[in-house]
Amino acid sequence: MPLSPSYPEPLTTHQRYIRQSIMCMSGLLFGLFFIGGLALVVVALQLNSSSREQTLFYVEKAVELRSDSIMTVMGDYAFWGDAYERMNGDIDVDWAYTRNNLGAHMFESFEYEGLFVVNGNNITTYAVIDGELRQDLTLDNWLKQDVVSLLAEARQLAEDEEVAFAVIADQGHPMMIATAAFTSGGDPYVKEMPGPGSVLVMVDRLGPAKLAAAGESFGISQLRVANDSDDANAPPALRLDVMNGEPITLRWEPPQPGDTMLMWLFPILILGLLVFAYITRFNLRATLAAARKADASHNEARRFQAELVFQATHDSLTGLPNRPLLEERLKQACLDAQQAGGHLAVMLIDLDGFKPINDNFSHYLGDQVLVEVAKRMLAIVRPGDTVARMGGDEFIVILPGVANEHAVSTIAERLLADIADPYQIDTIDLRVTASVGVVMSDGDIEQPLQLIRQADAAMYQAKQEGRNNASWYTRGLSQQEYEMTQLRNDLQHAIDTHALELHYQPQVDSGTRKVAGAEALLRWSHPVRGPVSPAYFIPIAETTGQIIPLTLWVLDTACRHLRELTDAGIALPCIAVNISSTHLLRASFVPTIQAALDKHRLRADQLELEITETVLMDHADRALDTLHQLKNMGVKLAIDDFGVGFSSMNYLKVLPINKIKIDRSFIKGIDHNAQDAAICQGIISMAHHLNLRITAEGVEREGQRDFLVKNQCDELQGYLFAKPMNFTDLCSLINQLNPASTDADLI
Ligand code: C2E
Ligand code: MG
Ligand code: MG
Repeated sequence: MPLSPSYPEPLTTHQRYIRQSIMCMSGLLFGLFFIGGLALVVVALQLNSSSREQTLFYVEKAVELRSDSIMTVMGDYAFWGDAYERMNGDIDVDWAYTRNNLGAHMFESFEYEGLFVVNGNNITTYAVIDGELRQDLTLDNWLKQDVVSLLAEARQLAEDEEVAFAVIADQGHPMMIATAAFTSGGDPYVKEMPGPGSVLVMVDRLGPAKLAAAGESFGISQLRVANDSDDANAPPALRLDVMNGEPITLRWEPPQPGDTMLMWLFPILILGLLVFAYITRFNLRATLAAARKADASHNEARRFQAELVFQATHDSLTGLPNRPLLEERLKQACLDAQQAGGHLAVMLIDLDGFKPINDNFSHYLGDQVLVEVAKRMLAIVRPGDTVARMGGDEFIVILPGVANEHAVSTIAERLLADIADPYQIDTIDLRVTASVGVVMSDGDIEQPLQLIRQADAAMYQAKQEGRNNASWYTRGLSQQEYEMTQLRNDLQHAIDTHALELHYQPQVDSGTRKVAGAEALLRWSHPVRGPVSPAYFIPIAETTGQIIPLTLWVLDTACRHLRELTDAGIALPCIAVNISSTHLLRASFVPTIQAALDKHRLRADQLELEITETVLMDHADRALDTLHQLKNMGVKLAIDDFGVGFSSMNYLKVLPINKIKIDRSFIKGIDHNAQDAAICQGIISMAHHLNLRITAEGVEREGQRDFLVKNQCDELQGYLFAKPMNFTDLCSLINQLNPASTDADLI
């Protein structure tokens, strides 16, 4: 498999800054290292230089010692009365050599290679070479040099008893020659001899070994005569002037303390440098890695923040702007239209026939349809337009800066056509259409949100006109529809702000005369209109889907209250909750009921669900299945408003219900209308034959009560006993009527 090249991630500005800072710091420290190294070299060179100067001094001292020594020895032997008598003129060889006064010991003790005596005619009369007496050698022959001038100088200096001294080169090596004329040395017993006296010559040849030894005695190593391999100009060197030619250069190996110091310190310095380079590299990498990590988490936090903002302003399913963002955009579009003098259009799109998809297939499928609808709408509008989801199957389109009504109508037509195209989701073919309400404005409107309400009213008109079409908002739209639209929005607000209340109406057992149950009834006090009847807002909530959150709230509240009553020892056998057919048919309904019971630790038979006949007429099979599940759980089921649905009596045989509630309209005239009385008697009798309990609703008068008691209606509910009341009042009422040991009753 070919490997794709991997490139290091490019550095951010922040990371580049960190790297540059570290590099600068490191550069600075490297510079310091370099300067430190240079300083070390300079110190080392100075150490070497002062060491050289010191050795030069010692070499000079060594040479001086040698010359001083030969001159002293010469003085001792030449200015000595015995030597004057025995060596001046005829040589007393016996005295000189045999008795070793001027014999081998001069070589052995002083290492003088040559010892000569030259008479007044410059003829060699005595010669000892390397400690051997040599009759055959003359001074000139041995030296291969003419030193007459030196002899003459010695004779001149004799008077003052001084020694003549010179250095000559012997095959490149220095040779020290000391000469002095013999004198009596001031000895009064020695007789002066006439004529020119003899001269004593001592030769100290500084060969390699002797030079090296002279150096060693002063701690100088390898003192030698410079050879060809030595650099003529390199220090240290000592130049010796010679009598017979070019000066002789002496060299030696001075100690190099600087080199030694460098030898020790440089490796340490380089090691330190390497360690420092490694640490710098490690630090750079670690810091960059930490910076990358910090940047990554910073980016992640920013991304998360952006995501949160997006989530707060967009619908999670379709990704379209949600209501708050839509409102913001609408206000802005109005402002822009006002300032630019243009127009904007608002469309409210509500899908037709979407609920059956959710109910009959699945929510997943319904969601996919919504996503696809959103995509189709986005494909139609221009980049500056807004498509938002209001919730459920309702969308809003804002078209800022539209030219005229014709342009808006064209877009509405396209939306209708594209939405109506078939949808294929998971091999299932689905069709939905849309009803579109359209409104146009010049932006000069006090409350931009009013445009949404107007579009909503227009959309309702489109629904009424047969769906799958667009309708324009006109001032002629019925006040009732307009109000209804407003009411929907207000109800949503009431749901969102928990502004609803739950009241309870007791149901009285006609036999025991005690409270057998209580029906939970929603109460909504509208901030402007005052109390709004549930008979009015519940049907609206059913069409908008708001009924689901509403019922969930009612269920939870009713169960919680029953739990509180039970915990407080107040006897209420059962609580009844009204259920809409749209909710009952949802797949999640049974688990919802179970969850509410579990949450408040209630037995299933403490909950009664009231359903109307309509659900059984429209969706008998699915409803039946759900009802069986509820029955199996132990939940009680009641048919509410029995008799108004004109339904087939047949279903009563198969329904797993416990109770029938006779609608108020039949109770109304039982105490004076023979027909009502007959119908009522028939229903009671039929229910009892089917083993069902029966409740009469809307009992207002005593005559009604008496009739119902006489005809063995099981439970009675109506203003005669109690109107719906809040929970606190219910508590005191039951406390009063259902005491453990008294027989107080309402009948
Ligand atoms: P319903 O379930 O048949 O409730 C009985 C209605 O009759 C209640 O009206 C109650 O106040 C009224 N009523 C009781 N006794 C008398 C009486 O003696 N005389 C008269 N004239 N009326 C009496 P309400 O509370 O206005 O409720 C109306 C309908 O709204 C209810 O009829 C029910 O269908 C629906 N509803 C109320 N609350 C809920 C709820 O939480 N969920 C659902 N789905 N529907 C609810
Ligand atoms: Mg009811
Ligand atoms: Mg009813």
